[in-house]
Amino acid sequence: MSEKVNKMIACPKCSEKSETELICSMNNRSFPDMKERIFGDKFFEWKCPKCGFHGELQHPLLYNDIENKFMVYYIPDVKRKVIADEKLEKEFAECRDIKKRLVSGVNELKEKIAVLDAGADDMAVELAKYAVERIVEKSANRKVISGYFLDMDKSENTISFHFYVGNEKRPYIQTTRLEVYNRSMKIVKDYFEDFGKQPGFIKIDREWAKEAWKIYKNS
Ligand SMILES: [Zn+2]
Repeated sequence: MSEKVNKMIACPKCSEKSETELICSMNNRSFPDMKERIFGDKFFEWKCPKCGFHGELQHPLLYNDIENKFMVYYIPDVKRKVIADEKLEKEFAECRDIKKRLVSGVNELKEKIAVLDAGADDMAVELAKYAVERIVEKSANRKVISGYFLDMDKSENTISFHFYVGNEKRPYIQTTRLEVYNRSMKIVKDYFEDFGKQPGFIKIDREWAKEAWKIYKNS
């Protein structure tokens, strides 16, 4: 499944309007290089055919991975926590166990693909990241601005995240025992399994993890 639309884009430098093809929906099998382009920051690149101006053109993208059973819907700066899409629900009615996630930024899009590609549970990853974030804040004595999943190594029994702390440009890498993830996974199974399977695209991010921790602590 792939969906493309043609849009007239006005160049911010020379104002020339040109027709640009935007890929709004793709599946990783029919576009094997797309993942590479997303991770290499090439996917949203745009070049003006008249003056050669280079820029980024952010637009919604539905990323589909049928084999690993997930879909990630990227909508730039989306504020909503859930987006129901009846047309998609019908189209994928036979695959209820597909994880459908909503993300509002390119870094979040990359992170979500990396987590789900690794076969990890993104809810457990967010809970683990939130727990590790607080440890990092204590040890660095500085506020964590953002944090992302880096990798999971089952043979080494570790999970790693990178955090942006204070106004430092370089990320702070924190590796921790996989146990933190396994404990989070148990919380997900006990408390949030149904939540993660609801229809519609849901945002599972830091805000969600913060709320989920509260629910778990108060239960
Ligand atoms: Zn131009």
